[in-house]
Amino acid sequence: MFSTVPAATTHRPRAERLQLLEALRTSFDGLDTTYERADGTRQRRIYLDSAASNLRCTAARAMADRAMQHYANTHSQLHMGASLMTALYDEAHAIVRRFVGAPEAYTAIFCGTGVTGGLNRMARVLTAQRPSRDVVITTMMEHHANDLPHRKHAGRVVHVPLAHDPDGEAGRVDMDALRRAIRTHADRLNYVAVTAASNVTGITNPVHEIARLAHDVGALCVVDAAQSAAHSPIRITGDRDDEALDVVCLSGHKIYAPGSPGVIVARKDLFAGHEPEEVGGGIVEFVDTERYTVTDALPDREETGTPNLPGAFLLASMLLLMERVGMDLIAEDERALTQYAMERFTAIDGLHLYGSHRLEVAERIGVLTFNLEGLPHGLVTAILNDYFGIAVRNECFCAQPFVRQLLGIADATGVAPDSCLDTCTPQAQPGMVRVSLGLYNTRADVDAAADALADIAARPDAYRSKYRALRNGHGDWAHTDFNVPPHELLTLEGAADDWVRDALSS
Ligand code: PLP
Repeated sequence: MFSTVPAATTHRPRAERLQLLEALRTSFDGLDTTYERADGTRQRRIYLDSAASNLRCTAARAMADRAMQHYANTHSQLHMGASLMTALYDEAHAIVRRFVGAPEAYTAIFCGTGVTGGLNRMARVLTAQRPSRDVVITTMMEHHANDLPHRKHAGRVVHVPLAHDPDGEAGRVDMDALRRAIRTHADRLNYVAVTAASNVTGITNPVHEIARLAHDVGALCVVDAAQSAAHSPIRITGDRDDEALDVVCLSGHKIYAPGSPGVIVARKDLFAGHEPEEVGGGIVEFVDTERYTVTDALPDREETGTPNLPGAFLLASMLLLMERVGMDLIAEDERALTQYAMERFTAIDGLHLYGSHRLEVAERIGVLTFNLEGLPHGLVTAILNDYFGIAVRNECFCAQPFVRQLLGIADATGVAPDSCLDTCTPQAQPGMVRVSLGLYNTRADVDAAADALADIAARPDAYRSKYRALRNGHGDWAHTDFNVPPHELLTLEGAADDWVRDALSS
């Protein structure tokens, strides 16, 4: 059914690709940013929050900036800049399609700022296109973006549980439970929506096998690749025709391209006859005051308005650079660092790492989520920032049902927003601490985090005595005498004043 496109991986010798990887690693904005610490020293920040957004790649930015020397709006061929922009924007679509190995039968649509926009769009489209199918299956490990749009637009949503490894830790989706759910809802199942990798545990799912099971009953497979795309290879076509994914959604800001649009890569035929979700300029053929006709061409008909060209160029440039290194090598490198981080973290007394620790049972990308016994997640996160210059994220990561389940909380009852006392537990104020890796992270970063966590675990009271709980419903903590208000770091007004000073003095 699907033809294949040429493999996007490079044929360069491995040694050269390793050299490229080393060059890329240091090519990011913000790696040298320093902040003051609670002990009065300044330190280069260590960024371990890539699962939220990763840093911008300077090499990709330089490529996109070359295009911006010709900036103009698209949709005209008659001046140089406009025709070049139109060609480059087409090229950006083609690069995204190739990155996920999507053949001609698929379109790439730039949409919103991330996967949230793409999944909402596809929930509406697939509901409208397949009205007799009013059930969606998703899993317990989904981000709200791959759950709530289906609840709002697509009918009944069934959440499939996860399998557990021999140690009782949660792994990937329970395939037997998924098979049963698909059988139960076979006639009414519209699609299975599944994440390629969890943003809580980093654990990956067998998306092609899931696609085959969905296709067996005439359902579709929609994949949330927000978390996985920058970390492991994804190919839309599987080993067999019936394993091809129908829809894949990406977030550019999680692929080293903040400011870029989100992307839907989807089978073109899923849009056949569908009135575009949004209408306006750029997609119409004829308009009078009574009626209008919309182009049949994809992705055009799903991309009304002026496109975010700088963002699309930045994302496409980054995908090209990652292709030249090879996603296989990027994944291999990250797997080794993840394994190292798991070993270092699990050796810390009182640290509980969530999700299976056995990569051979449940593969994971570089996302490690944990709690330190007896210490609130907000407090640990604040200490890492204030004393160690380490940026990590805490709370529920927009995956409340999954985090509650991992914490053993049966339901949402009994969780009062202001219940966070100084001794609060992850159960009273649900949440965890998340360390997540990007291309720029090294063993030294992991060591810094592990050493810091070991120190916090060994001297909890010394740290705790310096903090107070904010009782703001998020489980945040503040240092009693160290606080750098954001406006002291930077304001846009201040940056404008600097420009004025420089302009007048030159
Ligand atoms: N899906 C997963 C697995 C995520 O990790 C995220 C963001 O953290 C999203 C969806 C939502 O992505 P965005 O905020 O880019 O729309």
